[in-house]
Amino acid sequence: MFLAEPSRQRIAVLGGGIAGLTAARELARHGHSVTMVESGDRWGGLGTWFDWNGHSLDQFYHCQMPSDADLLELIRDIGLGESLYWKPTRMGFVVGGRRYAFNGPMDLLRFSPLTFAERIRFGAVSLLLRRLGLGRDLDRTRIEDWLVSCYGRPVWEKILRPLFTSKFGPAAGDMPALYIWERLGREKNTVSRGYLRGGLKAFLDAIVQDLETKGVDLRLNTRVGTIREVTNGIEIDTGSGTLDVDWCISTLPLPILKGCLGDSKLARRIRIPEVRYQGVVNAMFFLRRPLDNFYWAPVVDSGTEFDGIVEMTELVETSHYGGNHVVYVMKYCDRSSALFQEDAKSIAERWKGQLLALYPDLNLQPSDIVDVQIFKAPFVEPAYPLGYSEMKPLIHDGESRLFLATSAQVYPKITAWNSSVRLAKEVSRQLLGHIAQVPKGKAVVETPAMAQV
Ligand SMILES: Cc1cc2nc3c(=O)[nH]c(=O)nc-3n(C[C@H](O)[C@H](O)[C@H](O)COP(=O)(O)OP(=O)(O)OC[C@H]3O[C@@H](n4cnc5c(N)ncnc54)[C@H](O)[C@@H]3O)c2cc1C
Repeated sequence: MFLAEPSRQRIAVLGGGIAGLTAARELARHGHSVTMVESGDRWGGLGTWFDWNGHSLDQFYHCQMPSDADLLELIRDIGLGESLYWKPTRMGFVVGGRRYAFNGPMDLLRFSPLTFAERIRFGAVSLLLRRLGLGRDLDRTRIEDWLVSCYGRPVWEKILRPLFTSKFGPAAGDMPALYIWERLGREKNTVSRGYLRGGLKAFLDAIVQDLETKGVDLRLNTRVGTIREVTNGIEIDTGSGTLDVDWCISTLPLPILKGCLGDSKLARRIRIPEVRYQGVVNAMFFLRRPLDNFYWAPVVDSGTEFDGIVEMTELVETSHYGGNHVVYVMKYCDRSSALFQEDAKSIAERWKGQLLALYPDLNLQPSDIVDVQIFKAPFVEPAYPLGYSEMKPLIHDGESRLFLATSAQVYPKITAWNSSVRLAKEVSRQLLGHIAQVPKGKAVVETPAMAQV
């Protein structure tokens, strides 16, 4: 679409992850002049790639779920519908160093970490759990309180507490139960998972090419420093100069956005709650042999620092990885923790030993490990406080020219590509609606209903 002046607006999109890429596409599609600013040296944010001996591989394991409607639509729109395939995958569970299949009633009956009565209750409650949440204010109910009332204290202590703590840290039980309840609709143990041939790099190449044809000004290696409100516009200082735009969408993690806004009037007006983020340390093992053929297995009380194993070659052909089997293991942790600060080489060495020790029956040898690559990310999972629905940042404060599309706004949806795509589309829709009401250079008045997702 071509827009003539003065309808054509200059819009900056900050952050080149999936949210930023989606927002830029929506705005450019409607004829606006869009500049995308990303501090990294490649696109994709948490969903990015690296080069391994000539293979373009995902830094962090990513798959698609059949329920990812907004993401699947985007994949089709950029011409990759035919590249997406689906495969049934299975789940395991490692408790106390023993490995279990965890895919249905028979596996549950054999799951000896729980007593027989606990297994029966676990199965029955799991079937009903989504319905058990109906009619309760789960946004203000602690995860621990809700799950203990449903499953009983022993199941919480043996299985559920370690699971949640591993992802969200020691205060996981204090998070709102609504977050878990929403998740129940998305994931099942035995499920078809989707993967794009060519991985995240194929997706990013296609969407970036699409943005280029739509005239988006794409700027990598450009770090946003300060964001300032000026009369009828926004000024953004970057290492390579100042960007002067009519509107801005920020997809930056909240602590970074807060730093960019400083103690300005704008910072005081928009709602940025204190949210602690979990980061992640993720090791990617290249193996000569497969492990258990479970796509995903949580690891509880098993002498490992990592607390989950994703056997990616359950979903993706080994040829994608130069003929190797690929397993990701991960530990969610605070970015200030000793583990997060540790150098990659020593983490890799230690985790090699821990992985080998989990599979004594497979007689895995150090020589079966071809390589280990470590990746870290500081801002991954916001650890939401109780009542977060009412405190989450608004898309728009009603007055400024800054709109927000950060992963801390997808709540109660889970942090995932689909949630970010959905949010970015909604934020773009609201901004476009807003622009349509305001001639360029005029002040803005907004109805409150537009501001919330
Ligand atoms: C280990 C792991 C596994 C995952 N698995 C899946 C999965 O299987 N399926 C799924 O759907 N999702 C998965 N996710 C979640 C998914 O990756 C995220 O939800 C999604 O990528 C968030 O996208 P975003 O654009 O909102 O944020 P981000 O990807 O965090 O993008 C924010 C961008 O802002 C940039 N930035 C930060 N500061 C500045 C600055 N000052 N100036 C300019 N740019 C800046 C960052 O570099 C980044 O590119 C996984 C995530 C991890 C870490």
